[in-house]
Amino acid sequence: MSDAFGPPIHRPGTVAEARALRAAHPRAQPVAGATAAQLGWPDGRAPAALIDLSVLTDAARGTPVRAEAGGLVLSAFATLESVRLDARVRHALPALAALIGSIGSAPVRRLGTLGGNLCWPSGDLVPAMLALDARYVFASAGEVDALAPGGMPADDLLVEIRVPLDARRVVLEKVGLRQAFSPTLVTVAMVDAGQGVRVAVGGGPTPAHRLPGVESLLAWGAPPASTRVLREAVVAAMQARDDALASGAERVAVASRVISGHAAAFVRAADADADAASDSSTSAGRP
Ligand SMILES: Cc1cc2nc3c(=O)[nH]c(=O)nc-3n(C[C@H](O)[C@H](O)[C@H](O)COP(=O)(O)OP(=O)(O)OC[C@H]3O[C@@H](n4cnc5c(N)ncnc54)[C@H](O)[C@@H]3O)c2cc1C
Repeated sequence: MSDAFGPPIHRPGTVAEARALRAAHPRAQPVAGATAAQLGWPDGRAPAALIDLSVLTDAARGTPVRAEAGGLVLSAFATLESVRLDARVRHALPALAALIGSIGSAPVRRLGTLGGNLCWPSGDLVPAMLALDARYVFASAGEVDALAPGGMPADDLLVEIRVPLDARRVVLEKVGLRQAFSPTLVTVAMVDAGQGVRVAVGGGPTPAHRLPGVESLLAWGAPPASTRVLREAVVAAMQARDDALASGAERVAVASRVISGHAAAFVRAADADADAASDSSTSAGRP
């Protein structure tokens, strides 16, 4: 349990053991890949003790991705790279595979996990899960709507993420400073599951959140909104913070351009679907 040159590391075999260790050692930090947690350690020094979730051997850790009726179930303990390379994810949600591919580098993704990303305030996947309307399964709290990290149940462990496959169109876009291995300026997620477009932002210092004011402009049947109106709605609704990389205002400006840029394609696709549905009901009704 105790490592020669570092803090004590507890190594649970099961989620139940990990929960018991959390209760018994409240100052110990659970880590999976520790790739995000270590970014917050002062002077790179680990906290008093760690609970290593990467060594879980029970079923929760076993299968990175499995199919269920209407969706995919992703293990929170799966590495980012195993989810990115999974054939079902690449086929059903290529935008998610691509977004994961924009996180860190391959060595980071081989250590970093889905749960670590979603429980870390800056994770690029948090807005994606909000817009995909995923459900989170916690060890104690059970199944809940996808949450921003600040709203996670305290002292609980995220075990699974259930992602519905009902989306007609999905855009998940991380904007960074360069093509690869870039810190995040902002991550935008837009998903149309048939009633309108769910829009979420996050990544970097931007707290992950949905933008209901923008979604109402993109609801099916809403009058067409101009680029200017959409951008103003993003500016009015989005919360963003400054950091050394960019100001909050710059992040909002980038997000407003990305969202308004994709909006027209969402509206066109919805119109085409509506036309196709009306054609098929007309022809079905013909004698
Ligand atoms: C060089 C570098 C580049 C990076 N680039 C990016 C990037 O572009 N985008 C990005 O989003 N991230 C980036 N990261 C951060 C990180 O690699 C990813 O977010 C990764 O997915 C975190 O997973 P992890 O398993 O390492 O999390 P950890 O560091 O182990 O954990 C992160 C937090 O989540 C908690 N946690 C972990 N698992 C669970 C669980 N199952 N239940 C409850 N709480 C849990 C931990 O207690 C901790 O507070 C980068 C990191 C590095 C070092």
